[in-house]
Amino acid sequence: MLSRIFLATALACLIFFCAPSALAQPPAANQMPSVIQVPAEAQASPHFDATAATNAYLAQIRADKTARSDAYFEGGYWLILWDFLYGAAIALLLLNLRWSARLRDLAERVTRFKLVHTFVYWLQCLVLTSVLIFPLTVYEGYFREHKYGLATQTFGPWMGDQLKGLGVNLMLGGVLVIMLFGVARRLPRTWWIWGAVVTILFSTFTVLIGPVYLWPIFNKVTRLDDPKIVGPILSMARANGIPAQDVYEIDASRQSTRMSANVSGFANTMRITLNDNLLRRGSPEEIQAVMGHEMGHYVMNHIYKGILFDSIETVLMFACLYFGLGWALKRWGEKWQIRGVGDTAVVPLVALLALIFGFVTTPVDNSWTRTQEYEADMYGLNASRQPDGFAQAAIHLGEYRKMNPGPVEEFIFFDHPSGRNRIYAAMRWKAENLKLSAGH
Ligand SMILES: [Zn+2]
Repeated sequence: MLSRIFLATALACLIFFCAPSALAQPPAANQMPSVIQVPAEAQASPHFDATAATNAYLAQIRADKTARSDAYFEGGYWLILWDFLYGAAIALLLLNLRWSARLRDLAERVTRFKLVHTFVYWLQCLVLTSVLIFPLTVYEGYFREHKYGLATQTFGPWMGDQLKGLGVNLMLGGVLVIMLFGVARRLPRTWWIWGAVVTILFSTFTVLIGPVYLWPIFNKVTRLDDPKIVGPILSMARANGIPAQDVYEIDASRQSTRMSANVSGFANTMRITLNDNLLRRGSPEEIQAVMGHEMGHYVMNHIYKGILFDSIETVLMFACLYFGLGWALKRWGEKWQIRGVGDTAVVPLVALLALIFGFVTTPVDNSWTRTQEYEADMYGLNASRQPDGFAQAAIHLGEYRKMNPGPVEEFIFFDHPSGRNRIYAAMRWKAENLKLSAGH
């Protein structure tokens, strides 16, 4: 959510000066073992058994590491709830104390020119909510990440990133809010349809410009030129009909110890990016397995399908907004001093309804993403033919994901298959391919 990234000024300065000393001795990273040697049970043999091989891989992880990454990931379940409740409380505060109406009055005093008025309201509302949300943001994004050894930034640079995020939200969010209120004021009956259309086009636009214009605000993105790494990746790309010329690297280690890679953009801006944690700690087999997975996203058009899915969700959300706003404003509009859907003071109510929508659809979103990730896993195994590199990658990702959840837990909370399921899929692939090669 937009509200996640942005951050405050006043409180920030306060904490800015007391925090760094507390973290002079940051906790060590929860590094998972790099399994260079394939465990005996997972080595090719006539008695190869996928389940035994999976268990052998999982047995490489020390119990205390598992406990720590489970605690981190399970804490994330609760954060979904706390984020929702905290955000809802702030929205209700802004409405019931009529702060939102007051911000609107203030903005109207600055200017009668609607467009500028909307932007001024947005600026005030964004800064105020950022300050109010700051305690949760700093716990979630800074202290908790450090506690689990996932963060690499000291407080100053972290705060700098938060302020940059606030700036991005101010500008991009400002443009979107101006367009949406333009629609709501001109089309009182059909605004929800056109509002959804504007939102879809706008978010597609940000997906398009993200890798080229937004990421460099926070990280350095460079073209990878080590032929030992780029050669095999581009070869795999050609074999899979992907017209890639370059592979990119992002210095994610600036913020985090997480290993990751992704496919982003579309048409001419579509590109594959590896983060430097993966490049530094991943074996060549592991990097190839991950690249095969990313190419799966590419070949199976997951970005386009994602945009389509988001579009359907956006239309549904705007339909809910249409009814939700109508219902709530009829009841409490006067009390909150909101004149209608074209009044900027309505923003916290919109945020509240969007929060409810997002909370309810969390398992749907996760299952949609997880399904695509599973597809990319299958594609990646076939493209890279590196089941052991794949298992290694799953173990490394276990530094921030629970390896072995229950099926219901995985369905609700996991946006990727769990580590156990990913390793098992790799070992199943290996078992069946051993049979194939034995048949010759
Ligand atoms: Zn993926």
